[in-house]
Amino acid sequence: MSDQVKYLLEESEMPTAWYNVQADFATPLPPVINPGTGQPIGPQDMAPLFPMDIIMQEASVGPYAAQYIDIPEEVFEIYRLWRPTPLMRARRLEKALDTPAHIYYKYEGASPVGSHKPNTAVPQAYYNKRAGTKRLATETGAGQWGSSVAFAAGYFGLEAKVYMVNISYQQKPYRRMMMEAYGATIVASPSKDTAAGRKFLAENPNHPGSLGIAISEAMEDTVTTPDTKYSIGSVFNHVLLHQTIIGEEALKQMEKADEYPDIVIGCAGGGSNLGGIILPFVRGKLKDGKTTRLIAVEPTAAPSLTKGVYTYDFGDTAQTTPLVKMYTLGSAFIPAPIHAGGLRYHGMSPIICKLYDEGVVEAVAVAQNPVFAAAVQFTRTEGIIPAPESAHAIRAAIDEALKAKESGEKKVILFNLSGHGHFDMAGYRSYFAGELEDYEYPAEEVHKAIAGLPKVNA
Ligand SMILES: *Cc1c(COP(=O)(O)O)cnc(C)c1O
Repeated sequence: MSDQVKYLLEESEMPTAWYNVQADFATPLPPVINPGTGQPIGPQDMAPLFPMDIIMQEASVGPYAAQYIDIPEEVFEIYRLWRPTPLMRARRLEKALDTPAHIYYKYEGASPVGSHKPNTAVPQAYYNKRAGTKRLATETGAGQWGSSVAFAAGYFGLEAKVYMVNISYQQKPYRRMMMEAYGATIVASPSKDTAAGRKFLAENPNHPGSLGIAISEAMEDTVTTPDTKYSIGSVFNHVLLHQTIIGEEALKQMEKADEYPDIVIGCAGGGSNLGGIILPFVRGKLKDGKTTRLIAVEPTAAPSLTKGVYTYDFGDTAQTTPLVKMYTLGSAFIPAPIHAGGLRYHGMSPIICKLYDEGVVEAVAVAQNPVFAAAVQFTRTEGIIPAPESAHAIRAAIDEALKAKESGEKKVILFNLSGHGHFDMAGYRSYFAGELEDYEYPAEEVHKAIAGLPKVNA
């Protein structure tokens, strides 16, 4: 069919394995370092936080060193509730842009919580259940990750406790109620439930909170409560592993469309939905000589790849985690309050950073107003209201399609639509009212934040 719009897979065609890109790296990822000893951390150091299957997936060791990791049956059964997700050809957007480019998007907003995040929340809950965990603790900013943990924990009979950044807790009551509907317990962070939270509350009883504080609370809860483990929504290698189901499906769907993308695009906060869509195409570059351009799109307010430094830094703002080599703006740097809350992170997935450093992946930074302009153009052509995070990928896809129009080339563009924006309408309201600022990152602040970091000789 020449005018086909949806490229769907049967459940029987769903990929049965995740892709472990670490197996195809010529050199391993830089080690994760204990800031106290300066030595690489081992599996036992992570055991208080994660079950052993997750730790081994993180390090790509034992049975998890393989190129493909079978998706457990119990996880597959839950994936079936919304997977395979559709691949769409954005014909109406192409027409509006008057471009010879073919634009495809993978729609991860089709999941029950509205984003790609349950792709990893479900296996994390599964491996925890198998290891005897009774309860998960986690943090959430805008609420996408907390909703995903709440959803996944319920299926495996685990309790879930979510520390939600206070300002989001106040501003996004429906996300909070959604988590309650799935059966989780939510508190505003900083909370009275942890020593870290009480310390911040003593300083300011109306503290707005931050993701860094919420991470500290969730980790303290984990190590001080029996049978409790911690769950994380991005950045880590095991999270990107689980997200590769996105790109593996997209490969099969592009085959049905009888095309192979010239360009694959994803927005990048911690790098998990980007990794999910691009890693199977990275395999094509590393193993099969493909020349696909792979583009990470970040906000100008938090441009870790395009403006950051490739160095060892802490994962959290409170500087309590091990040191990880990544492109970073400095863990002490707090990004401006853009509406794409999921992209306000100082660092980036070590896997994405290595690929960027080696020139396999490229990156662009885009500002908030042009991003919302792209979101509105997409809404009015394709009908789906995108999450502000996902709209970063749309902006870059439109820009590439306009370049193709200028050069008269028929480029095939694929992007990941990581989620819908139904809980983000306050951002749209501000955009329509002309109230949005286009933040540029303050270079001096960042360089100060980098200068204060511990030195690592790894
Ligand atoms: C959390 C989130 C992101 C950012 O996280 P990544 O790990 O970079 O994918 C992007 N889009 C949506 C819809 C999200 O919920």
